Amino acid sequence: MSGKDYKKVDLHMHSTFSDGALEPEELVKQAKQNGVELVALTDHDELAGIEPMRRAAKAAGLDFVTGVEISTEYAGQTIHVVGLGFDEKNEQIASLLEGIREQRKVRAEKMASNLEAMGFKNVWYGVADEVTNLNLISRSHFAGWLYKHGYAKDRQEAFDKYLAPGCPAYVALPKLSVAKAVQIITEAGGVAVLAHPGRYKLEEWKLQALLDEFKKSGGKAIEVTTGSHKPEHVPIFAKIAAEQGFWASTGSDFHFPERKVPIGMQGDLPQGLDPIWMHLPNIEKAN
Ligand code: AMP
Ligand code: MN
Ligand code: MN
Ligand code: MN
Repeated sequence: MSGKDYKKVDLHMHSTFSDGALEPEELVKQAKQNGVELVALTDHDELAGIEPMRRAAKAAGLDFVTGVEISTEYAGQTIHVVGLGFDEKNEQIASLLEGIREQRKVRAEKMASNLEAMGFKNVWYGVADEVTNLNLISRSHFAGWLYKHGYAKDRQEAFDKYLAPGCPAYVALPKLSVAKAVQIITEAGGVAVLAHPGRYKLEEWKLQALLDEFKKSGGKAIEVTTGSHKPEHVPIFAKIAAEQGFWASTGSDFHFPERKVPIGMQGDLPQGLDPIWMHLPNIEKAN
């Protein structure tokens, strides 16, 4: 085991290689300013930011571990699975993610035509302007376009009115099971983490079924403190981690500077948990 007792870590953030506003170099700069000692870049379904992130982290003297956030589905609900410490050259994970990115393009075209059918003009070109990595199109880029053109007062309203499940422009991503994503992360030498479990708003029995499925497939950790949790989620998921034997992970889920939680500022893990970094494989030490 390569872990050590870090004071501040951030194992969940996004760059311009997916739906974040900042390049890896800038993420590292802010991480360092905020006192973070170990970072992972977890772009959605994309590994292209890993190498620049690694280089920047090394240059800044931060420890680094590979990361990704994979879009999966469980019982009709989108579930995000974070992978950490895997080999990014592993062909199985690379080709899985390439498939998802292709499906994202097809889905984005459908979403654009849904919006056109509602009367919006030049959606595809507008959204393309928001996209910072042509291989990775997300609903976030649609939200950016709707917001910047005054069709929504902020990104949240763009989701609430047009882009969330049940809304007129929404198209689901094709189904990839939680179990499959966990298996592929594990086979690539990494650790699978259930991202922001409080965000799914699952009834208790469904959440437990998800946790059971995740663990049975080889999932090891859940996020406890994250920029995507409300304060009341933290004790709930701390208790689940402690009682059900999950390692505790933590990350800002940083996308944009104007969002609430800066890099590394998602809150320390509560006492009595088993922090994931004590178990993570392949931490690359800066010094
Ligand atoms: P996608 O993976 O293309 O379905 O887009 C999901 C991304 O959109 C998430 O990673 C968030 O960054 C963002 N997102 C999802 N739901 C919301 C929401 N209700 N408000 C703001 N951003 C959201
Ligand atoms: Mn996102
Ligand atoms: Mn997520
Ligand atoms: Mn995320």
